[in-house]
Amino acid sequence: MTIFPSLKIPNTLAAGPGPGNTDPRVLEAFASAGVADHMQLDVLRGMVEAKQMLREVFGTKNVYTYGIAGTGWSGLDSLQSAILPGDKVVAFNNGTFSGIDCLTIRMKASTPDDLAANPMNPQPANVIVVNVPHGQSVTGEMVDQALAEHKPMWAFMAHWETGSGRINDIKGFNDACAKHGAMGLVDAVSSLGVSDFNIDDYPAIVGWASCPQKGVLALPLTYAPVSFRDEYIDVVRKRGCYNYVNHPILNARHWGIIDGKDVPTPSYHQTHSGYAVASFHEALRILLMHGRAQKAADYAFHEKVLRTAVEEMGCEVTSNMTSLVVLNLPGALAGKEKELVGNCRARGFAIWPTLSEPVQVRIGILNQLNEEAITDIVGRFADAMIEMGADVDKDAILANVKSAFTPRLKNSA
Ligand SMILES: *Cc1c(COP(=O)(O)O)cnc(C)c1O
Repeated sequence: MTIFPSLKIPNTLAAGPGPGNTDPRVLEAFASAGVADHMQLDVLRGMVEAKQMLREVFGTKNVYTYGIAGTGWSGLDSLQSAILPGDKVVAFNNGTFSGIDCLTIRMKASTPDDLAANPMNPQPANVIVVNVPHGQSVTGEMVDQALAEHKPMWAFMAHWETGSGRINDIKGFNDACAKHGAMGLVDAVSSLGVSDFNIDDYPAIVGWASCPQKGVLALPLTYAPVSFRDEYIDVVRKRGCYNYVNHPILNARHWGIIDGKDVPTPSYHQTHSGYAVASFHEALRILLMHGRAQKAADYAFHEKVLRTAVEEMGCEVTSNMTSLVVLNLPGALAGKEKELVGNCRARGFAIWPTLSEPVQVRIGILNQLNEEAITDIVGRFADAMIEMGADVDKDAILANVKSAFTPRLKNSA
């Protein structure tokens, strides 16, 4: 038998698409929570308060708004479990994550025969996947056209596709769902807590799922926020679903949501960790104290500074998300993306390549919303480019970063 030395994990600069660097206050809340079981009154109160704060974060009056224990895919599993074998679905794929969403949907909508024919990658005829090339956004016209042609029960799209860094047209998606009588489902893993939007402005989208570790910044494995409209809950209430733990109606009981109403006394669904509840609660407080609108503006500003700096290094940015830049290296370095990313990661500068073709570089700024952090990221990326032979004037680029953060003197009237 081998007993290994205790595991030490270094602190890196998590400058990828997510997870983002967890706020010390979130870690402090995790580590300072007492030992308490999942029916202890303060743990339950924390869940009820977190549920109420999540309604603010989502911009919704949906009663069925709460957290699914786990990561983004856990919340998406809950969201997509309303899809039953044989249901007709139109789903849009424009990158790594919406591609996996489409796989999940194909699994959920498969009959036993569909699964037996291709167990790991079923292809039920009732799921129509619309493939949009990497680097492009899903537009309202694309959704309108596909829904007009196929008239599905469900339509699915990722709000922000993190694989390629592209923002998809959520209003166009909503409007097409309303026009063609489809129930919309959305992966909001990368947009919630970064962008400023109210899901209640998109009433044809009946279900949303996000994650703990991107915009919400509560990595110590907490909760994937979900929110369901009554139209969605009614379908699950009538038809049921093949899911216990992430069941959209049953899971809500532990958050004090029973029979469509907030109730003062939650009831047992699964074990919840007081540590997770305390840290998730703190992350939501931090987000709301920063303010959704202010946070979105801060992301837009810092992304622009980073984008400008990498463009000055000769890179071509193809993304339009505000938490991430996805770029092509200058011609002379084309084909060396993985080597460059590998060099950076070996030094604790944890940027990412794309996970599906074509190979690009992704640099994220989750929880890096200050001059020091952006300067550090730009400096380290410049060093990595220079090391590989790129012609980069690091001092000039850093001077431009500095001036972007220097408040301009306004002419007094
Ligand atoms: C990160 C991500 C996921 C997967 O989330 P996990 O937390 O890894 O389970 C799904 N969809 C999108 C759009 C993402 O960015």
